[in-house]
Amino acid sequence: MKEALQKIKEEMMRPIYEKRRHLGCEICENSFYGYYKPKSRHRFHAVPNGKTSPHPTKKGWLTVHTHDDVFYPECPDCGIDAFVNDYKQAKINIEHEKEQKRKNKAAAEKRKATIERKRKAYWDRVRHVRANPNDITMEELKSYNFIEALVGRPYYGSRDKEPFWDQDGVKNGKYVVQFHSHYKGHSRSGKTHYYNNWFDIEDTETGEKIHVSQRG
Ligand SMILES: [Zn+2]
Repeated sequence: MKEALQKIKEEMMRPIYEKRRHLGCEICENSFYGYYKPKSRHRFHAVPNGKTSPHPTKKGWLTVHTHDDVFYPECPDCGIDAFVNDYKQAKINIEHEKEQKRKNKAAAEKRKATIERKRKAYWDRVRHVRANPNDITMEELKSYNFIEALVGRPYYGSRDKEPFWDQDGVKNGKYVVQFHSHYKGHSRSGKTHYYNNWFDIEDTETGEKIHVSQRG
């Protein structure tokens, strides 16, 4: 009885295994002709059986059901079955992947261009204020990074080194800028040293004093 059932099943499955198929590997991007196979310890990539059902948790997603004992063969080039698909679907997936990469690359280039444009605008503004100290805005006066750029204190990598506002208190325009740094101590390992850095800025016309610290 059991053997008879087994035989019926085999007869039903035979056309599936015997049909020659056009297949593609999504990592090698090659196409080849081959046959669906029964499960073996080398095969894990089951062939869809055409049935789908709504995903149990993700709304709008579909669960694709697969045959119990029909698997894609290994790719003849890479020997892996995981990325083998029917040729048409493999081609669609490969093109989709390429399109995503093109989009990502284009987006990265756009981001880079935006950063470059902003960086240039920033340094154009720094140069302008160096040449015209009285044009500085209150917002810029209160920005530690902007003052640091103005006085040409080098930090992080290469910056515009030409100092216009002198950190030792030389007067530029109506402002006097003084840089202060107090050593706070080091980390337990001794590798990191902490400083309190700040600028004291005085408007010599109004006597107004501005304290700009590195943090906040
Ligand atoms: Zn392959």
